[in-house]
Amino acid sequence: MATTLDGRADAFIGGTPKRLLIGGEWRAARSGESFETIDPATGQVHGEAAAGDAADVDAAVAAARAAFEAPAWSGMSPHDRSRLLLRIADAVEANAEELAQIESRDNGAPLSIARALVAGVAETFVYYAGWATKIYGETNPSAAGMLNYTLREPIGVCGHIVPWNGPLGSAAWKIAPALACGNTVVLKPAEQTPLSSVRFGELLMDAGVPAGVVNIVTGFGETAGAAIAAHPGIDKVGFTGSTEVGKKILIASAGNLKRVTLELGGKSPNIVFADADLDAAAATTAQGFCFLSGQICVAASRVLVHRSIHDDFAARLAAQVRAIPIGQPDAAATMMGPLVSREQFDRVTGYFDIGRADGATLVAGGHALDRPGYFVEPTIFSTGDSGMRIVREEVFGPVTILIPFDDEGEALRIANDTEFGLAAAVWTRDLGRAHRVARALKAGTVWINTYLHVDLISPFGGYKQSGIGRELGRHSIDAYTELKSVYAKLD
Ligand code: ADP
Repeated sequence: MATTLDGRADAFIGGTPKRLLIGGEWRAARSGESFETIDPATGQVHGEAAAGDAADVDAAVAAARAAFEAPAWSGMSPHDRSRLLLRIADAVEANAEELAQIESRDNGAPLSIARALVAGVAETFVYYAGWATKIYGETNPSAAGMLNYTLREPIGVCGHIVPWNGPLGSAAWKIAPALACGNTVVLKPAEQTPLSSVRFGELLMDAGVPAGVVNIVTGFGETAGAAIAAHPGIDKVGFTGSTEVGKKILIASAGNLKRVTLELGGKSPNIVFADADLDAAAATTAQGFCFLSGQICVAASRVLVHRSIHDDFAARLAAQVRAIPIGQPDAAATMMGPLVSREQFDRVTGYFDIGRADGATLVAGGHALDRPGYFVEPTIFSTGDSGMRIVREEVFGPVTILIPFDDEGEALRIANDTEFGLAAAVWTRDLGRAHRVARALKAGTVWINTYLHVDLISPFGGYKQSGIGRELGRHSIDAYTELKSVYAKLD
């Protein structure tokens, strides 16, 4: 497959300024404002998108409400909704290379990873196409003279606010189940990566999504995002992003008591026992904190290592990360590209300084790369001091911290000593210990002798400050429906 950018993605990115999709029409922002998008591999401006704000969100919500009530959508049979989702999947697949190239150019993801993530977008629509015809109620054993049954109904207008690390992937996890259940959507992609959502919007129209069923408002978090979170006409917010912004969204959503699903940050522990397959653990852990330059919520950002193997494992992990090919996202060999933005670059290099200043031992990396764009080295620190900022705070970069432990109990105490609870892993050949530790970890996902594996069939989300609610599997169907209990007197 070609690894250079073909003309289509380039022409789209650098073409006319992108507009908002509202009620099936492409419009400039009401304010007339737009913003530039930056290629993180060069630091250069490469595109322009409409800066939607509260007025545009108002218009998008009105369109989404009208579409929610219109017979074209509310009267569409589950079978037809299912077919529509399959057509969306087909459209994504038919244009997968272009979408992957746009995403890679917008957020710096290696093209090979962007391709895999776009394939996941199509798969998400296929999976939820299956659910559209399987949203059952139940009949309940009530009194003899009473019939009781339940109905699962769409919630209404859903606001989806998504981040830049996997723009369409995050959007698909929300839009696909929302549509399968009969809701309508206002999507706001991150300001760093608006372009693929605009192209996706074009594909939705081509696939026959009725006008207003999905609206796309590009713009900034403090304006367009905040307007979605607070809007009285939005019934549900699905958000993926930082814990800090998640809290703001929860507060803003209180006005009309929106249903809220939050998928937030993490500081995920990876526990390596002395009996583990250390080569596999080192290789997988390296991927676990370097995938997408560590800019993923489930990054393996703490590695708890049995003291007896600490130095050995540190050397293996360092060898693994030194072998990761870092380079231009569109080069075939590249496994790690740049960070997404200057802001993120400053944040991550700032943590290099914080780790050093706090006295953590630098095992590998710790520097920016001397080249244009926002490239940094995969970085490993080691420390026994659990109070350090690099141990406690989410860096969102290719940085992990090795922490020694002496026994299982101590490993669990350290692992759970965090305000986050998104994911965790345990590496051991001892079956009993693997499942005992999995049970004791306070995290929404636990991996045993693996990492990063996420399947649409299984719930995804966080304990503690890593989120509220679960996405994927049938849990998204619960999250995108209201449940009604109907009583009928029979005599
Ligand atoms: P990250 O740290 O990954 O950039 P953020 O939480 O800052 O994550 O951003 C995730 C999404 O939330 C983006 O679409 C961003 O525009 C949006 N956002 C940022 N601030 C707010 C806010 N105050 N209200 C609503 N959305 C916001």
